[in-house]
Amino acid sequence: MENKTTSPKPKQFWISYSKLSTFKQCPLKYRFQYVDKLPTKPAPALFFGSTIHACLEWLHRPDGADDAPRTLADLLDHLEQNWLPPAEFDADALAQAGCTKERGEQVLTEYFLKHVGQDATAGRTNEPDRAHAVEKKFKIDFDGDVVNGIIDRIDRVVDTAGNVSYEIIDYKTNKKAPNRLYDEQLVQLAIYKWAAEEGKDWDNRALDFYPVGRAGLFFVVPEVNRKMFPERGLDVAAVKQEVRTTIDKIKAATAAIESDSEAFCPTPNKLCNWCDFQDLCPARSA
Ligand code: SF4
Repeated sequence: MENKTTSPKPKQFWISYSKLSTFKQCPLKYRFQYVDKLPTKPAPALFFGSTIHACLEWLHRPDGADDAPRTLADLLDHLEQNWLPPAEFDADALAQAGCTKERGEQVLTEYFLKHVGQDATAGRTNEPDRAHAVEKKFKIDFDGDVVNGIIDRIDRVVDTAGNVSYEIIDYKTNKKAPNRLYDEQLVQLAIYKWAAEEGKDWDNRALDFYPVGRAGLFFVVPEVNRKMFPERGLDVAAVKQEVRTTIDKIKAATAAIESDSEAFCPTPNKLCNWCDFQDLCPARSA
């Protein structure tokens, strides 16, 4: 009789830019966060950044019954309604971190006046009233594994000859911008370009923002308040290779975790002082 047993399908591994960059920064931090799933501590800067992201998402969201241009007053009202800091952050903690509601009002006001326009009907300048998409989720099938992520904003751009392309934007609330984009930031943007070329949405439909004309970071705080784009083209082929190498390393470390306590080794780096797992880290107690 024919033996119908089949070998089990290899487990699909999902990786995002955040996971990729955490593993490259420190494999032990990756283990604590994504393998052991230890809780991370909430931080005022994270709350502040996600609230600003949510307000900008609402400002440029393409769908909805109300197509009337949103005004600065609407935007500030949206911030007021959605300013919900976690209970552990009192006013002093937020003020100490420079993450107050007044700072949020300042960020959104200066963003709106510079990039959208003060007059709701006549003064629109650089940025579109409505984006092509906001908070766009994607997944890319990658030789049995999956690369996934969320893109903050995608704009549809039509040039003078009528050619259509798409501009990808990732918001940043850092107080400083680099002179030029770091390699890590280029990796993030190249993954987004890769998604436009080969990715699918959550319902397995092809994505709708190809071709990508530009992909860049938008530093929205008043100290910077501008977009930055790479000085050269994004190298999707190199990023695919990097993602494959990192997935293989994570899989090998995960397979060895029972027998090798250093499978995910600590790698001290300039961000250790902000790591949530310092108390558990052998490199910090050594
Ligand atoms: S404190 Fe530094 S070395 Fe230790 S786990 Fe965190 S990032 Fe890694």
